[in-house]
Amino acid sequence: MAPFRYHQEQQPDMAMAGLPKSLAASQVRRLAEIAGLPEDEAAQLDAVASRYAFRANDYYLDLIDWNDPEDPIRRLIIPDLAELGEGGRLDASDEAANTVVRGVQHKYRDTALVLTAGTCAAYCRYCFRKRLFMRHNEEAARDFEPAFDYVARHREITDVLLTGGDPLVLRTRRLGPVMKRFAAMPHVRTLRMGSKVPAFYPFRILDDPALLDLIAGIVERGTAVYLMAHFDHPRELTPAARAGILAVQQAGGHVVNQCPLIRGVNDDADVLAELFQTMTELGAPQYYLFQGRPTAGNRAYEVPLVEGWRLFDTARRRCSGLSRRVRYSMSHTTGKIEVLGIDAKRIWLRYHRAKDPVLESRIFACRRDDEAAWFDDLRVVH
Ligand code: SF4
Repeated sequence: MAPFRYHQEQQPDMAMAGLPKSLAASQVRRLAEIAGLPEDEAAQLDAVASRYAFRANDYYLDLIDWNDPEDPIRRLIIPDLAELGEGGRLDASDEAANTVVRGVQHKYRDTALVLTAGTCAAYCRYCFRKRLFMRHNEEAARDFEPAFDYVARHREITDVLLTGGDPLVLRTRRLGPVMKRFAAMPHVRTLRMGSKVPAFYPFRILDDPALLDLIAGIVERGTAVYLMAHFDHPRELTPAARAGILAVQQAGGHVVNQCPLIRGVNDDADVLAELFQTMTELGAPQYYLFQGRPTAGNRAYEVPLVEGWRLFDTARRRCSGLSRRVRYSMSHTTGKIEVLGIDAKRIWLRYHRAKDPVLESRIFACRRDDEAAWFDDLRVVH
């Protein structure tokens, strides 16, 4: 594996002008620019990238072992022709139904989700929000006033999750006022940032003392800040990534990790166990392992539920108690449905969160189906 290159001195081009400087400088937007990818393969994959956006950066691409055609990091970031296959929906868990004003989703009573940005530092091929990166999509907030107004009027909201896209693609001078405004609302007790920047480009954190000061200031004034990191594979936990986690923790932020189960990336009990255990050791324990949503273009990245449970359970048994807090869960239209266990005939499930409060914490069973990859494929047993 080649060492990563960090071209901080490079100037961002105009197309990257909205991104923080060091992040913009490292961007790779065309497959043909990737030295490790044969020219003919890059040309073939352009058809995929023109349907589902491609973006990477030199730091992340340098994690790939180009001699291994099945390298998990390559699989995560380089398009696959299988993405052109049929099936799935762009909004697989009906997020549109929870949208209350532009950029704000309110599905669970206490949590507001704010789509803070319409882009990411790079694009995961299995993304369930890939529609955000398509032309003419207008879901992410542009003017934050309607979001501030909505959260201010809904005092039951104690938790604001900034997501997207990725809030850390915003410059700190843009992100700071947004975070401060939510944190200043007395009923908002926790402010979360869902971000893959710690994996995709940790220098965004390490090179920006203003971001760390922002976190420290909000924490000091009494609002907890959580970075919901998104590491999919232990190979992403480079020294720079670990330093990024530590920097957020030293600023007073909490870090946890969540990721989906992805065919060819982390569908391996050893890989999952190492990820769960290492995240615990870094003080950033795994919070959810998500079942991949049946999003358009994502069929090749799916793992059936029964197989997924077996991998998850095997991995968890290899970990210490602290690492066993992770839940294997589906973010379904109706709520977060946790897989509790599987026997010869049944798949046992529980509503960890439910859109309809009547369903909250309900335990129920579905007929076992070893091919099923989503709740809608299952039949509930009454
Ligand atoms: S970081 Fe999240 S939102 Fe961004 S491309 Fe990856 S999965 Fe999608």
